[in-house]
Amino acid sequence: MKIKRGDLVIVTAGDDKSNTPRPVQQVLANGQKVVVEGVNLVYKHVKRGHPKSPQGGRLRMEKPIQSSNIKFFCGICEAGVKLGYRYNENGEKERFCRKCSTTVSVVSPAREKFAKS
Ligand SMILES: [Zn+2]
Repeated sequence: MKIKRGDLVIVTAGDDKSNTPRPVQQVLANGQKVVVEGVNLVYKHVKRGHPKSPQGGRLRMEKPIQSSNIKFFCGICEAGVKLGYRYNENGEKERFCRKCSTTVSVVSPAREKFAKS
């Protein structure tokens, strides 16, 4: 799974389908599920004494969605894209946009084995 916490994604299916990029808050179940800000909102009813609502009542909160229903949002393509992994010249493993081939982030430190000299 190539999506990480903090990535901007768009939701491609379901009730909250939209083209608005939203940040990922949590990645769960080994990447199969994600919690996206403002997506799949439910009311959770809580009793008095809950830390977020001392008087009790209803809390608005996100529930996880299947990660097959999201796409990474590339700021350069301004669209949902697929990500790939590759090694750069220094031997660092990085995530990149498969559409415009821009580096998204470095995922692991440089290893000589993969460096192109
Ligand atoms: Zn792109």
